[in-house]
Amino acid sequence: MTTRSDRRPHIGGRASSQDCPRAGYVMLTYDEDYDPLVVETRCKTWGCRSCRDKVLAAVKRRMEYGCSMIGSSWLITLTYRSGPDILVPDADTVAGDQRLLFRFLKVRNPNLTWFKVVELTARGIPHLHLIVGGLIGTKGRCGSPRTSNWVDQECNIGCIQHEWGKAWQAITGSYVVGVSAVLGDRGAAAYLAKYLAKSHYLREPYEALGFKRRWSCSRNWPRANVQLRGSAEELWKKVLVVPKGGRIGVYLETRMEASKGHALLDEVGPEEIMKVVRRAKLSGLRKAAEKQHA
Ligand SMILES: [Zn+2]
Ligand SMILES: [Zn+2]
Repeated sequence: MTTRSDRRPHIGGRASSQDCPRAGYVMLTYDEDYDPLVVETRCKTWGCRSCRDKVLAAVKRRMEYGCSMIGSSWLITLTYRSGPDILVPDADTVAGDQRLLFRFLKVRNPNLTWFKVVELTARGIPHLHLIVGGLIGTKGRCGSPRTSNWVDQECNIGCIQHEWGKAWQAITGSYVVGVSAVLGDRGAAAYLAKYLAKSHYLREPYEALGFKRRWSCSRNWPRANVQLRGSAEELWKKVLVVPKGGRIGVYLETRMEASKGHALLDEVGPEEIMKVVRRAKLSGLRKAAEKQHA
């Protein structure tokens, strides 16, 4: 039996901690030849427990997929200098240093591709963890003794650690670069995902340094979904955003299964559809907020 309160969209209180409080459905109507396409949406913010796990899983899949495509890859960590007289680098500084580093390394490694997660150390200093592919070097490290000037010493095998260490030192003053071979696609992704998850619990220090995103990747990092050219935004006659629960929400839930094999999903591409959904959800939420204020 359905009671009145069951029908209300459950926002806040009634939802269990595993539910996204802003979960809903988006119904996309093309024309009468096609059934409406129903897609589930969530808030997808790090602050939401249920969404955070899903976003994390999606980022992890992306890392894994990339690793499986680029072949030989390396786990590389870049450390900043720290000390009482040294300014902690903020997000802009890190981005600038990274740009310089990759520009330099690309001269010798034109196929360089990377995925990066920023970790803040216990002292709040950014520490960069990267999965890197497309490197010319085939040896991670040479046997040169780890004295303070090891990076300036001749490297007889042209190891990756020397190449990166020299460049990183020239840019930041720190030569501390860790290099290890990636043994399995999953292992590398799990390793980086761990820092990504950790970053959630340290929101404030990240934000204080201006980090909006904890991860990023190069444009050439392999993607599973090749985006279609052009835009599918004009395709839809009507886009409706509905919260979970409620009469329409419950109805749309029953349409979810049928939508999974919808012809337009393949034709337009899931990425394009999600773009439309994102846009609709934003304007839908804005309207809801305006209503509340009216
Ligand atoms: Zn959510
Ligand atoms: Zn070396």
